[in-house]
Amino acid sequence: MFDLKGKVAIITGGNGGIGLGMARGLARAGARVVIAARNEAKSAAALKELQLLGSDARALPVDVSDEKSVGALMEETEQQCGRIDILVNNAGMSIRNPVQDLRLEDWQKVLDTNLTGAFLCSRAVYPYMKKTGRGKVINIGSMLSIFGASFSPAYSVSKGGIVQLTKSAAIAWAPDNIQVNVVLPGWIDTELTRRARTHVPTLHDAVVTRTPAARWGTIDDLAGIAVFLSSPASDFITGAAIPVDGGYSAFG
Ligand code: NDP
Repeated sequence: MFDLKGKVAIITGGNGGIGLGMARGLARAGARVVIAARNEAKSAAALKELQLLGSDARALPVDVSDEKSVGALMEETEQQCGRIDILVNNAGMSIRNPVQDLRLEDWQKVLDTNLTGAFLCSRAVYPYMKKTGRGKVINIGSMLSIFGASFSPAYSVSKGGIVQLTKSAAIAWAPDNIQVNVVLPGWIDTELTRRARTHVPTLHDAVVTRTPAARWGTIDDLAGIAVFLSSPASDFITGAAIPVDGGYSAFG
């Protein structure tokens, strides 16, 4: 039910953090994993790790906010791997500043990467999935898909928007047997949140106190949901927003 042998999975931002955690899970389940990001050295290191797990993995360059680059990623993946079955729209970034201080170019940059990037990749992968008669798209939202945040309005908007992108694509593509879901991670220990912890020294303890599981998530906590949403086990699940948060969103 969870076997992904013969499947090809693209994970944007798969060279580190949550994307790498998901890539590890998909590789262990048998998928051929394509990690797609900008930093070549980081991608090369992640690729080595995935190949040690036995995956015939690939690393391809992409800037998800660039339409041409996204198109080239899909073409190159099909050329090298023969098909595309799974897309994880994970690439993301944050620029922290309250509304009154946020520069237009920073607002734009966050939306271009987190939301437009997921749109461009989803749109570009559709014909490949339609051709094979099935497909799985996994978007990455956030607790800020649900809650507001005074310190990162652009990020919250992008992560709220990705839930609506998920639902819209899920409805449109259900007749094509393509399932589209969004994962909402709680606070996970990655480079992104390490940077946030440097800016906000109280963040570490605040997260532990606010999270019922009383700990930060690890990138490997995201592996199981990636396998589930990529596999036939989730064929009747589409348009869903699934928290992986140690109970954070259940806690009033
Ligand atoms: P990281 O900073 O560790 O990873 C982000 C990845 O995205 C990097 O590998 C980076 O690779 C890639 N990336 C960024 N911009 C682009 C771009 N324009 N084109 C292609 N790749 C890009 O962060 P996380 O692992 O923490 O975040 C991963 C996702 O999970 C993000 O969408 C984030 O918003 C989300 N998330 C994270 C949470 C957390 O607590 N960590 C909580 C909720 C959601 P490169 O620089 O090589 O391009």
